[in-house]
Amino acid sequence: MRERDTQQRFLIESCDVRGHLVQLDDTWRDAIARTQYPPAVRQILGEAFAAATLLASTIKFDGKMTLQVRGKGPIHLLVVQVTNQGSVRGLARWTSEPDGAGLLDAFGQEARMIITIEAREYAEPYQGIVPLEGDCLAEALQAYFRTSEQLPTQLYLAVSDSCAAGVLVQKLPEQERTYHDADGWQRATLLCNTLSDKELCVDDSQTLLHRIFHEERVRLFDAEQVCFHCSCSRERTDGMLIGLGRAEIESILIDQGNVEITCEFCDSLYTYDSVDVAALFKGLATQDTATGDNQKPLPVTRH
Ligand SMILES: [Zn+2]
Repeated sequence: MRERDTQQRFLIESCDVRGHLVQLDDTWRDAIARTQYPPAVRQILGEAFAAATLLASTIKFDGKMTLQVRGKGPIHLLVVQVTNQGSVRGLARWTSEPDGAGLLDAFGQEARMIITIEAREYAEPYQGIVPLEGDCLAEALQAYFRTSEQLPTQLYLAVSDSCAAGVLVQKLPEQERTYHDADGWQRATLLCNTLSDKELCVDDSQTLLHRIFHEERVRLFDAEQVCFHCSCSRERTDGMLIGLGRAEIESILIDQGNVEITCEFCDSLYTYDSVDVAALFKGLATQDTATGDNQKPLPVTRH
C-alpha cells in the first residue's frame, strides 16, 4: 500500500527535468465531505487541489499560495489555498452543473485565473492574473507558466472519489542541466502523457515513476505529508466582527437573536449571542470600527 497524502519531488536526471508528484487522499475526502458537489464541479475542484499543491511545491516561500478561478459561468468561483506547511483547503461555488466538459463551459468566456502568494519574505503579496484558457485546468496552468515566462512546465491531473493526484514536470534552468540532451524535455513529457488517471490515483510513487521512466535516470526525494487544514478560528472571526463594527453587529443581533458565521472552507460554525458581542466590543466603545491588525477576514457566509 502506498503512503497516503504525500507530495514528493523527483529528478529525471537524464532529461534535465524536475518533477513533483502529489497524491491527496484524506485531504481530498475531507475537502468534499461537507458539500454535495455535482460531479463536474467536484472533478474540477479535485484538479485544482492537486494543481495548487503542485504549484506551491515548485516555489520556496514561507506563507500561503492561493489559486483562484473567477468567472460568470455555471461555476463562478474556485479557490484552493496551500500553505508551505503542507495544509490545503479549498472550495467551489456554482449555480448549475456545467453543460460541456470544457473549462470555459464551466467558468464562462471572460474567466480569470488568479495566483496569489502571501509570504513572509515578500514585502507585498505577489499576484498574477491571466485570462483562463485551454480545455482543462492543467492546460490553463501551462498557459500561465508560458505567459509568465517561466520554465516550460507540464501538468497531469487526475481525480477519483477517494483521491486527487497530479504530476508536474518542469525543464531545469540552464545552469542546472547536466546531460544537455536536446530531446530530454520532449521525451519526459511524452512519457508523462502515458500516465493514466488510475495509476496517478492508486500507484505508489516508486511504482508509478518506475513504470514511466524506467529507461531514464531518476532520483526520488523523500515524501512530505499534506493534509486538509482550515486556518479559521474564533479569534479570526472575532477580528472580522470587530471590523464590521458594533452598530452592524447589534443590528444583526436584534434581527436574528444571534450572530452566526460559517466558514465556507470547513463549515465550522461560530455563534455569538448578546453576551459574546458585548464582550467583543468591551473596551472598544469609543471606536465604531477597530481593525487593529490588518488581518483580512475569511470569506464567510452570514446566516
Ligand atoms: Zn474553516
